[in-house]
Amino acid sequence: MPHPTTADPSPSVAPIPLLGASLPELTRWVQLQGQPAYRGQQLHEWIYRHGARSLADISVFPKSWRAGLANIPVGRSLVHHRSAAPDGTVKYLLELADGCIVETVGIPSGKRLTVCVSSQVGCPMACDFCATGKGGFIRNLERHEIVDQVLTVQEDFQQRVSNIVFMGMGEPLLNTEQVLQAIQILNQDVGIGQRSMTLSTVGIPGHIRRLASHELQVTLAVSLHASNQALREQLIPSAHHYPLEALLEECRDYVQLTGRRLSFEYILLAGLNDRPGHALELASHLKGFQSHVNLIPYNPISEVDYQRPTPQQIQDFLDTLKKRHVAASVRRSRGLVADAACGQLRASQVKATG
Ligand code: SAH
Repeated sequence: MPHPTTADPSPSVAPIPLLGASLPELTRWVQLQGQPAYRGQQLHEWIYRHGARSLADISVFPKSWRAGLANIPVGRSLVHHRSAAPDGTVKYLLELADGCIVETVGIPSGKRLTVCVSSQVGCPMACDFCATGKGGFIRNLERHEIVDQVLTVQEDFQQRVSNIVFMGMGEPLLNTEQVLQAIQILNQDVGIGQRSMTLSTVGIPGHIRRLASHELQVTLAVSLHASNQALREQLIPSAHHYPLEALLEECRDYVQLTGRRLSFEYILLAGLNDRPGHALELASHLKGFQSHVNLIPYNPISEVDYQRPTPQQIQDFLDTLKKRHVAASVRRSRGLVADAACGQLRASQVKATG
């Protein structure tokens, strides 16, 4: 990316689509349209706070100007499908400008409203238990397409989004540039604290260490899912090129460089990685590690016949970790009825329509 130089102090002009542009960029853009600078502040408010989908909707703009703005793209998606679960979780399929479909989930919990955002259309990682992985990869999302997901949930719930998790479709660290920009916009322009965001990755060699240099306040979650290399390779094809030891080493460096604790995600698959021996093996790797393990009971998908362990088996796994002084908890499943496991709704819709 080119760095701004002192020879060019003027702010850059807002790119098209406008969603994703900063206040100085929007201000410069309105000025180039012959409007006073304060209209930049208004535009910023209408895009990020009121969720304007078209510039023609911005009622504080003079009518004469507004008419000519109708065709300038803001960068909002269309809600293609919406399904709500009895627990309040709402899953959306959003249609992007090029017709691609992406998933987003809104998860309410008391005063909190969490959005599970996608970073790619599909995913190239092909993890065996993941519905998104079964559908293949189409393309990376642009920053405005990530921000749009949050605004869409906020608008639908009529409630401010408090938390964001990058746990929807895709591998965020294969789209780092756009994901980092989206984090910045969600923080500075939408007003969500970085500490309320979690970025989940299956691990791409070198990328976790590189992420540390960005000095983010975001929580990093690493999808481990296995207590040894052979098991991990069985579940995650990319693990063939990334030994467990190397991944853990990078995670250790991340903690040391950032001073931040990280989370490990461990999906529990009955009979496969949920035995007491696996818990002991996992504990031995994480001894003395500043981390927290999130156990995720497997959410069944139709493409494979893994099973979810019984509540007792899940509890036993958790207890074994705790006895070994590994901080851990079980993540409650939300929105099962809304097909809310990663990639499930999109998979079922594609099947139904095609
Ligand atoms: N690529 C990133 C983020 C997307 S997946 C990553 O792998 O971390 C986000 C989380 O959803 C991961 O921890 C993943 O393992 C979990 N997940 C995917 N499919 C699941 C399923 N069928 N049941 C339960 N969790 C699942």
